[in-house]
Amino acid sequence: MQVTGKCLCNQVTVAFDSNKVLSTHHCHCKDCQRSTGAGKATILYLPKKHLTLSGQLKFYEIKGKLGLRVNRGFCDNCGSGVLSFTKEFKNLFFIKAGILDDSSWVKPQSNFFVSAASNWNRPEAELKHYQGNPGFFENLTAIIRSL
Ligand SMILES: [Zn+2]
Ligand SMILES: [Zn+2]
Repeated sequence: MQVTGKCLCNQVTVAFDSNKVLSTHHCHCKDCQRSTGAGKATILYLPKKHLTLSGQLKFYEIKGKLGLRVNRGFCDNCGSGVLSFTKEFKNLFFIKAGILDDSSWVKPQSNFFVSAASNWNRPEAELKHYQGNPGFFENLTAIIRSL
């Protein structure tokens, strides 16, 4: 299914085939809390080559908990967080589910960094929990093969 999304001011738009999404996760890490201003970020793993992006993103680089150089991309006009990637695996994008026009099809599989989850935004008990972000490395071989 072809899906679309955009930032709050419409300057940045994304489009991709939902079948190309590798996996979906909630991330409760403090960096995601700060950058979204919410309890967590919900992110879709999507190979860069499957994303159609238009508009101007600005990137802010910060070292993540695993030591990877995380580049967080946001609209340079309205500031909406749109996607991020790491310098180490730059062909894999993490798309923020909240920017999608219709996100009803999104099915998160696990919670990352539950140790950092706030008590007003508890991870759903039925999903797989990780104290940190081991899922990234668990899935890495499959992910890299698919890029
Ligand atoms: Zn914008
Ligand atoms: Zn995070």
